[in-house]
Amino acid sequence: MPELPEVETIRRGLEGLLVGARLAAVEVRDPRLLRDCPLPDLEGLRGKALERVARRGKFLILDFSGLALVIHLRMTGRLLPQEEGHTRLVLGFSDGKRLVLDDPRRFATLHCVRAERLEEFEPLRRLGLEPFTASYTLGNFQKLLQTKQEIKRLLLDQRKLAGLGNIYANEALFRAGIHPQRRADSLSLEEAQRLFEAIPQLLEEAIALQGTTISDYRTATGDSGSFQLFLKVYGRGGEPCPRCGAPIEQTSQGGRSTYFCSECQPEHHGSV
Ligand SMILES: [Zn+2]
Repeated sequence: MPELPEVETIRRGLEGLLVGARLAAVEVRDPRLLRDCPLPDLEGLRGKALERVARRGKFLILDFSGLALVIHLRMTGRLLPQEEGHTRLVLGFSDGKRLVLDDPRRFATLHCVRAERLEEFEPLRRLGLEPFTASYTLGNFQKLLQTKQEIKRLLLDQRKLAGLGNIYANEALFRAGIHPQRRADSLSLEEAQRLFEAIPQLLEEAIALQGTTISDYRTATGDSGSFQLFLKVYGRGGEPCPRCGAPIEQTSQGGRSTYFCSECQPEHHGSV
């Protein structure tokens, strides 16, 4: 599932490829996409130029002079320059370029939203703290931690923190040396600060390598990312910890796989 670094990589790719191009043709192959984006709205985009490609959490926002397409790729959605067999939508641009929404499992969503209403658009409005913005401060991050929720589950909660999914939540906790099942409110100030700093550092490194391709994710030019080569714990249950050599443990939290090193990420901080 694409997380912040993958969606940001796609955003940058689309910005370079398509901003300024006019939408010439809309071809809907999966009528389910029209549930939140009625055909007249979609057809109304023809002739309009793509002005801006933005991102909020894992949402992509394609802004066509006043009307925005808000896309969430969910499990297996991809935005590709050509068709590859699971086409749900094709946007044709006046310069001959195409933008294909390809999605084998069909969970990706498409919403048409008036640009001036984006702020109040519910799926975006309820998103939490956004890394790389001015509101991502240690103080705001610490406020999020005032809950009994397990820290890893909190990191995955998009209403608290936007953009992290299972891969980067596992990796961020390893980097910060925090056990994934710790209660969020049990973190010391030092631990909170380590995690607060680890998250954008990790995301930035992943963006620099165009994200993590484990199964479906591809960039806007159809390439794979390469951060999967640098994952320290995710998907490595039983392998030696790259820091201390102890076997990486695997468990499950809220139905999602959790990977951690119990030496580097002790369960009880400061307890005797
Ligand atoms: Zn270790």
